[in-house]
Amino acid sequence: MICKICSESLLHSRKVRFLYGKRLKSYFIIFCNKCETGQVNYFPSNEEIFTFYNNIGTQKLFETKNKKNLLRFNKLDSLLEFIFFKSNHNTKNFINFLDIGAGTGRYCKQLQDLFNYNVEAIEPDKTKCELLKYFNIKYHNETFEDFYKKNKKKFNLIKLSQVLEHVSNPLSFLNNINKIMEKNSYLWIDIPNCNENYFNSRNNDLVGHLFFFNAKSIQYLSKLTNFKLISIGSFGKTLKKKSFKENFIIKLKSFIYLYTPLLLLNLRKKYMYNRYKYKNINFSEESYFINSKMKFFENNFENEKLFILLKK
Ligand SMILES: [Zn+2]
Repeated sequence: MICKICSESLLHSRKVRFLYGKRLKSYFIIFCNKCETGQVNYFPSNEEIFTFYNNIGTQKLFETKNKKNLLRFNKLDSLLEFIFFKSNHNTKNFINFLDIGAGTGRYCKQLQDLFNYNVEAIEPDKTKCELLKYFNIKYHNETFEDFYKKNKKKFNLIKLSQVLEHVSNPLSFLNNINKIMEKNSYLWIDIPNCNENYFNSRNNDLVGHLFFFNAKSIQYLSKLTNFKLISIGSFGKTLKKKSFKENFIIKLKSFIYLYTPLLLLNLRKKYMYNRYKYKNINFSEESYFINSKMKFFENNFENEKLFILLKK
């Protein structure tokens, strides 16, 4: 097996147990000695990945009762403010914005409401696309790879939030993104911050992650795909080392998970999903429009999410 990023052999590499990789047949995370990227020991086929994500059971954020969406954003979330500040963007200049893995589409919606920019969303999840449609956001219900094959447009700003850790080939993924970017345009990436603290404090990596980047490995990959570094750092909750007792419980839980038949795990999942659905039934459309005021810490890697702003 070789590293999917730098092609170094992974034969004598360090590995740790992948706590919840069972559904995707991955049991270990292997770390490359050269570029420090962590990757799963087994890469599922596209079909296996597709089945996995279609069984997650996404829910719509809120019921779209009104026929037409009437509410608007009147301010940007701090994430977009930070990107515009670091890229010296004058908001009077029109841009083409692409959000890959747009989710509920709040960033597209903000740029559309406030500046009337051309925004496009790529979202493989059908349920999430219902919201994008409701908000009148131009969306593509497919993967980036399928979008890329037919796309002829170039973009000035591309956002990739919590996506890169899920794709089976981050190297070709970023190379292709580079090709659809205008010169002097920007790419925002955020991913889980998988440094030593992450591996000492994680209680799950359940959600189909195939790659585990830290500050060094994400910079290595950015350089390899011909991007220039503008800013790097972290945001979100602080990664705290867990106590011996907490770690013991986590290990025990993942051990039980490993040896419990999938049938039982699926039953439990169904039960949890219904409970979760019930709990969130009162999420309102108004709350979607409350701005997030997340803080971004440059050159600081103590928080759970890693960000990198790149320029082509
Ligand atoms: Zn490597």
